[in-house]
Amino acid sequence: MIAAAEKPPMADEFNPLLSAEARLDNAAKLLGLDDGILKVLRSPSRELTVHIPVMLDDGRIEVFTGYRVQHSIARGPAKGGIRYAPDVTLDEVRALASWMTWKCAVTNLPFGGAKGGIICDPNLLSPGELERMTRRYTAQLYEFIGPEIDVPAPDVNTNEQTMAWLMDTYSMRAGHTETAVVTGKPIDLGGSRGRTEATGRGCMVVTQEAMKRLGLERASARVVIQGFGNVGGMAARLMSRAGFKIIAIVEYDGTVYNEKGLDIRALAEHRKKTGSILEFPEGQDLSRDEGLYLDTDVLMPAARENVITSENAHKLRCKILCEGANGPSTHLADPILRDKGIFVIPDILANAGGVTVSYFEWVQDRMGYFWNEQLVNDRMEEIMINSFRDVVAYAEKHAVDNRTAAYMLALDRVAFAIKLRGIYA
Ligand code: GLU
Repeated sequence: MIAAAEKPPMADEFNPLLSAEARLDNAAKLLGLDDGILKVLRSPSRELTVHIPVMLDDGRIEVFTGYRVQHSIARGPAKGGIRYAPDVTLDEVRALASWMTWKCAVTNLPFGGAKGGIICDPNLLSPGELERMTRRYTAQLYEFIGPEIDVPAPDVNTNEQTMAWLMDTYSMRAGHTETAVVTGKPIDLGGSRGRTEATGRGCMVVTQEAMKRLGLERASARVVIQGFGNVGGMAARLMSRAGFKIIAIVEYDGTVYNEKGLDIRALAEHRKKTGSILEFPEGQDLSRDEGLYLDTDVLMPAARENVITSENAHKLRCKILCEGANGPSTHLADPILRDKGIFVIPDILANAGGVTVSYFEWVQDRMGYFWNEQLVNDRMEEIMINSFRDVVAYAEKHAVDNRTAAYMLALDRVAFAIKLRGIYA
């Protein structure tokens, strides 16, 4: 079966919306936020569900379900990626959309938050089927996206080709080329230099800041990365090039481990050839769980949600947890991480390098003037370092953990924008 059915919402710790709401409520309480404003922040501004008919290569018609949730437009156009996965749910997309709002507020970007998703298994679709699905989804969202309205980007299982199709479909409908409708495009179509590496690079930048605070040296620091895709793969490559020792990569099917540090380039070649990171000649295979619980300085979950939970958080043996993915830890894991004294770089800060360079891409498209890679990287680094320092200083000042501080900082900024704008009637 290619098109997965809509799934009922998960009513437990593993529903990301519950984690998103619990953290929002906690930060709102500590801020003494007005109840009415909290109601606004708890309710996405707009939710779209579309049913997407696609002609398959064999002539059959399949119908996929897709979502786009625009959580907030208080600080600017909605912004956020689109993911393709069989287990996408509306609640997951709602949570992810709200995290985009907080992420853009923590980094002080002039955007709100949004997220999209299509329930499908992209591995079972041909490039032609993927293209037709992307184009039809875009056509069904046409009135609700745009450079001033909502600007999509890549996420899990989508990439610059997906964004090129989206941009082209939107442009054909608009009657002119509109590059600023999406970010994460190919450089030849108005994409930004440095965007593909941006999320991984941002993770590296904040990890370095955290290490400085903890007095850890880069040359001797051990890093375990879970996920080897858009975020984890890039973070691994950049960090090993910068001299970090990547001792393990953890994927859904297991872990590859080398205490002396893995050759990431060779591992990427191996995966390309064999389809898996396992059985890499210069590494030892471990189970997925053994990888997650290795004794390490940095653990970077960089794939999907619900990796660190109330069931396993006590087993972690890292000093720094850098959340490259969105929502890799559940809200019930938070107190355990705090009690263990793990220095958490929360997702809404750690992985914000991607949307930061998306912002630069949107700016460059609208200026029609493109920056060199050094300028992009330097400006992104500056924003990431300043945001990291803002969050850590806030945490110290208010005696809260880093995640709570990041939420409080973000909520305060979004609430302020809502109050300034007033409630339109
Ligand atoms: N999907 C990425 C994220 O979760 C990037 C979003 C964007 O650039 O708009 O942050």
